[in-house]
Amino acid sequence: MPFSAFSRGAALLCAAFFCLQATAQIDQTYARDAKQTVDQEYTQRINKYTTLPELNSPLTDYLPASSTVPTPMKVLGDVSGAPDILPYAEDVYSYFRLLESATPRVKVFTIGHTEEGREMIAVAVADESLLKDYKENDARLAKLADPRTINMNDATAEGLVKQSVPVYYITGTIHSPETGAPTALMELAYRLAVDDSPYIKYIRTHMITLITPVVEVDGRDRMVDVYKWHKAHPNENYPRLVYWGHYVAHDNNRDAMTLTLNLSRNVLDTYINWHAQVLHDLHESVPFLYDNTVGDEPYNAWLDPILTNEWQMIGWNNVQEMTKFGMPGVFTHGNFDTWSPGYLMFLAAMHNGISRLYETFGNGGADTVERILTPDEYSRTWYRQNPPYPKVKWSQRDNNNYEETALLVSLNYFAQNGQTFLNNFYLKSKRSILKPNDAGPAAYVLSANEESPDRQRMLLDILRAQHVEISRTTEAATATVPVKPKRENKEDDASAKPPQPKTEQRTFPAGSYVIRMDQPYSRIADALLDRQYWAPNDPQKTPYDDTGWSLPALFSVEAVRVTDAAILKAPMQTVKEDGDSGSSSGSGSVYLIANHADPGLITLRYLLKNATVSVTDAATTVSGQQYPAGSLIIQNAGANDMKSALQKTGLVAAAVSTAPSVAAHTETTPRIAMMHSWLSTQTEGWWRQALDKLRVPFDYISTQTVSNEDDLRSKYDVILFAPVGNARTPQIIEGLPMWGNELPWKKTDLTPNLGRIDSTDDMRPGLGYSGIDHLRHFVEQGGLLITSQDTAQFAIDTGLAPGVSVVTHGNLKVVGTLLATVAVDQKSPILNGYSKPLTVYSEDGLSFNVSNTVGGTRGPRLGGDEERTTGRGGPDDPDTPQGRPYMAADPRPHPKPWEAMPLNEDQTRNNPNVIPAELRPQVVLRFADKDSLLVSGLLDHGELLAQHATVVAAHLGKGSVLLFANNPIYRGETIGSYPLVFNAILNFDRLGRNAGTTTKSEAGQ
Ligand SMILES: [Zn+2]
Repeated sequence: MPFSAFSRGAALLCAAFFCLQATAQIDQTYARDAKQTVDQEYTQRINKYTTLPELNSPLTDYLPASSTVPTPMKVLGDVSGAPDILPYAEDVYSYFRLLESATPRVKVFTIGHTEEGREMIAVAVADESLLKDYKENDARLAKLADPRTINMNDATAEGLVKQSVPVYYITGTIHSPETGAPTALMELAYRLAVDDSPYIKYIRTHMITLITPVVEVDGRDRMVDVYKWHKAHPNENYPRLVYWGHYVAHDNNRDAMTLTLNLSRNVLDTYINWHAQVLHDLHESVPFLYDNTVGDEPYNAWLDPILTNEWQMIGWNNVQEMTKFGMPGVFTHGNFDTWSPGYLMFLAAMHNGISRLYETFGNGGADTVERILTPDEYSRTWYRQNPPYPKVKWSQRDNNNYEETALLVSLNYFAQNGQTFLNNFYLKSKRSILKPNDAGPAAYVLSANEESPDRQRMLLDILRAQHVEISRTTEAATATVPVKPKRENKEDDASAKPPQPKTEQRTFPAGSYVIRMDQPYSRIADALLDRQYWAPNDPQKTPYDDTGWSLPALFSVEAVRVTDAAILKAPMQTVKEDGDSGSSSGSGSVYLIANHADPGLITLRYLLKNATVSVTDAATTVSGQQYPAGSLIIQNAGANDMKSALQKTGLVAAAVSTAPSVAAHTETTPRIAMMHSWLSTQTEGWWRQALDKLRVPFDYISTQTVSNEDDLRSKYDVILFAPVGNARTPQIIEGLPMWGNELPWKKTDLTPNLGRIDSTDDMRPGLGYSGIDHLRHFVEQGGLLITSQDTAQFAIDTGLAPGVSVVTHGNLKVVGTLLATVAVDQKSPILNGYSKPLTVYSEDGLSFNVSNTVGGTRGPRLGGDEERTTGRGGPDDPDTPQGRPYMAADPRPHPKPWEAMPLNEDQTRNNPNVIPAELRPQVVLRFADKDSLLVSGLLDHGELLAQHATVVAAHLGKGSVLLFANNPIYRGETIGSYPLVFNAILNFDRLGRNAGTTTKSEAGQ
């Protein structure tokens, strides 16, 4: 029955007199077109699959009929949201292409492809008059997007706004188990193209709706496979979606800063190229509709306040209208903080648009099931006065009703206020350009003197992908910059010294990169290049994601924040692509490459697999150029191979006729395996992606492989066990419980998209105790096992890292924070190329203690047994027993927090737990002192973490186990710490305490 939902809600909500008025108003607002017939069969099915009348709205409880335009039933065989039906991306696309061929109100565009080659599309829906002229409209929007093109002239802008319609971009199912959006968007497009109700017609004629129905296409097809398997095995447990995209799962919605995934770049390019005003991303994990855009504090500090107000306008209107429909459980605000710019929707927030996100309620497939909510989900709060029901029978159709209704309400509101939002779009763009004069800074400068052009180029590439303009100085440029704080000795009497000047003049050489803030996309550059501070006493106690992300720190690249506007007057030119991509100077058949902890060095090594590569063990200077220890001497490489390798890596080499006389050793190309668990492949996916992007070859194996392979050493030199993601050691060993049925992950006729990355007949078994034995043998026979975070904990728990333990957390609070470290073992080849303190990413503040005994844990000595007993003298005096000469005790050792407690003779006598000297763990990096520990993000009680070990090499037999307390390869952000892993790989056989004894210049022979 039409309008039933509204009638029920209205009756509940108001007194009779008021109700009549409200009814009249709403009926008129949402009235259908009386002349348009309704598709009876389709409508009947909508109502059949909707589990309660109030879970639908007058906007979506019917479907208008069309004699020419096919409904989703044509492709699906049933209506959108029907039970048991999940279409593959290809089927979704075929429907949109049917629409395109049936109506001039729909156009389909290919916007790129996924890592596995699947197509991504965007569909434009609007009245034919708008779509016919969409390019002219876009040309006007482009001017509003870059007000420099109209000389920042408000009157011109006003004219353009009047002639233009806005573009609202909707993206679906980036999170593959959140399955409802594609069918909701198919039906939405049909409604927008066909429905003649005034409400929908207004949208169609006043704006362009752009739709990417499937963002994570690789993951969608795998999810449909899993669902089909489930339907074919109705009474069994079904496999979890262990792989979504080719590399990462849920984190595909954390890639909006570094843009490492094709889907992020494709969506951003579409958003930018269409000059859209909104990017609205659809998710399904909260009942029944959470418009999480408005979120909670802290708000991202680089946003234009105009935007945060727009969130409130659109969000609260959405809640209000759906509340009037009587739909329960619609709310905004909530507990999502809008601090991190890593979410897909934030691409718009950081590029002068409006970011939006819905969480509707999804069942992870198309089953209709009873859902039981938790108190925090159904309780009434100030921002959720009409909460979801504690228990509800929920269908995919219900989900589609909510998604479509909410979107239509938003689109209509946006269309009604299109001129305002277009004007805001212009204003935000203009204010981004005015940044140097307003909030500042004027620019960021990346000096031509940067030690590692490789890492600097990688940072600039990200800015370029973000559509940020990059300029390069043509002459030396000088600007006033803040004086870098010097580390002061606290004991010094501050009053005795003259006050330090706050600023100084700094000259950047010609060729330095300038990221000007007087450009439309200054905001994203500022947010990525600046530092973040999250106050320990912030009211928000549960940050939604990382609290720090400062890319210069994570790339170990200097980006100087310059507030002095003089920098903008320096002679410079905008640069499109970087010209300096890999070359060699000089002549000769020996090539020298300085090591500045460049990620490209490992790429080069594997590209030149057949060349003789030596690595210097000491610093040297050749023709005035300095080569730190760890630099490469390359011989027996063909000139063409060398040229090609340099072009691919962007590295610079010097050709000389003879190798310099310096201590060096030969570097091989170690055989690498990456071992994953079947519990989760999310966090290790970032490691896999990094190796692939850097062309480092590896075998991809699982813990099950290792469980069955007793001679790993004959196959591999290095096994990477990247973080699983908050896995406990027993889970890694046991896997999933073995009761119930097998959970296959493999390619079959029923599941053609599974098993392509790795496969198994049964995902449940874990590493097993045999797997631990095999890993132990692998290391004892000279292999290197690399672990991080939870897998480092695993190595400790299973006895693979004698003498290493985890520091107890206490009140320490770290949430995705960037922390400073200090090199401890300067001679370790793991630190090759590093010349300055490195910033690392810490997920939760893990750190290590080391000990000279097995099972020993040793925190910092804070007095305790050091304190004197009651007796004569003062607190610093010794007690003196009477009637005998005083005998002083030996002074007790006071190791630093990152050091092992030295053992005295008494402690080592007949003690089987003492680790032989050559097998004792070595600390490579430690966390910095308390006052200099925090680089970016949230840190509370840093004293519990300060000075403790960050990276430790433990030893077993002839091999080593490397433990990272940080995650060195994470979300394409931690470029500065990548080479720690790469150095370890390339020096896998030189990490022992007795390794590293140099043979004099093998290279020079
Ligand atoms: Zn989601």
